[in-house]
Amino acid sequence: MADRISEYRIPYNVPPFTGREVENMRIACEVNHKICGDGPFTKQCSEKLKELTHAPSVFLTTSCTHALEMATHLCELRPGDEVILPSFTFVSTADAVVLRGGVPVFVDVRPDTMNIDEKLIEDAVTDRTKAIFVVHYAGVGCEMDTIMDIAKRRGLFVLEDAAQGMMASYKGKMLGTIGDFGALSFHETKNYSMGEGGALLIRDGEYVEKAEILREKGTNRSKFFRGQIDKYTWEAFGSSYLPSELNAAYLLPQLEIADEINDRRRAIWHRYYEGLRDLRDAGRIELPFVPEGCVHNGHIFYLKTKDLTERTALIGHLKERGILAVFHYIPLHSSPAGLKYGRFHGEDRFTTAESERLLRLPLYYSLTDAEADEVISEIHAFYGAK
Ligand SMILES: *Cc1c(COP(=O)(O)O)cnc(C)c1O
Repeated sequence: MADRISEYRIPYNVPPFTGREVENMRIACEVNHKICGDGPFTKQCSEKLKELTHAPSVFLTTSCTHALEMATHLCELRPGDEVILPSFTFVSTADAVVLRGGVPVFVDVRPDTMNIDEKLIEDAVTDRTKAIFVVHYAGVGCEMDTIMDIAKRRGLFVLEDAAQGMMASYKGKMLGTIGDFGALSFHETKNYSMGEGGALLIRDGEYVEKAEILREKGTNRSKFFRGQIDKYTWEAFGSSYLPSELNAAYLLPQLEIADEINDRRRAIWHRYYEGLRDLRDAGRIELPFVPEGCVHNGHIFYLKTKDLTERTALIGHLKERGILAVFHYIPLHSSPAGLKYGRFHGEDRFTTAESERLLRLPLYYSLTDAEADEVISEIHAFYGAK
């Protein structure tokens, strides 16, 4: 790859790139003469994703945001219906609820994983509750056994925002395949990327045809192309959720070496963990926790500082040395739209306080060991100097 152009020597993210993406895109243009959606590259990506996730049905989409929208549509969320979700998440999780007139009901996160606290979910259930939206933060699984049990007993859908969860698992099941619906992201900041893109994973066969129609502008065009019908019509409400072949062509080579990318990210994650352990043991910082039964994918490596002031100082220290480390979500419930559309159930013990201490370190496929070591030693320098 050409030299990076960045104001940082070690940026926070560099999109994954295998070197074969551009050749694939050339094939889409010059050989296949197919650049709209659902051509051979899209089909290969979907097959590969089925193989990697073991999901029975996979639909490649234009984004994870759109996959989440498809999921709230498929579970027929209606105005006034409530969805329980964490406040420490990306806006798209809540947008998908609000788009259909639903009410996001935020509950607190667990401070150890920053995932929704499964013990607080049931208390937030009302007779308007329709679904639980879980977010697997940093590719570490939520406590799905407990969550699936609540959903089963209370008759709720479970939607997994697995935007960060590709290749990670919970008790042997891939994230995104446990609930009724799972959404993956292939945005450039994620472990596998097509620029903008995502996928919807569907567990139960009964939703597959509906999803196909919804994704193809409300038409039964997919059936038509399979030769199952001789003309296609407008069947139901729909939109355009299928990505261009150019994007799928870009994604495919990364999926083909999915394990290699995953292994590399996990190796960097562990290098950070081992390198910063002494600061954790000395009580200076906190490090991420991965519960038993969860296998993470090295999506994010974060540490927690003492407080916001210390985090700001550490960001500044790293920045001066050409390293970009970044904080994450501003909790949704205290944002203007969160206040307008949703409500927080129970007490915000950890969401706000923990989010203010969290700092993400550079982590990407092409990050070298030497670069990771430099980040580690600059963090030591920061704490040593105090
Ligand atoms: C990245 C992300 C999204 C959005 O993904 P897009 O593909 O950009 O729409 C949604 N939820 C979470 C938790 C994310 O990290």
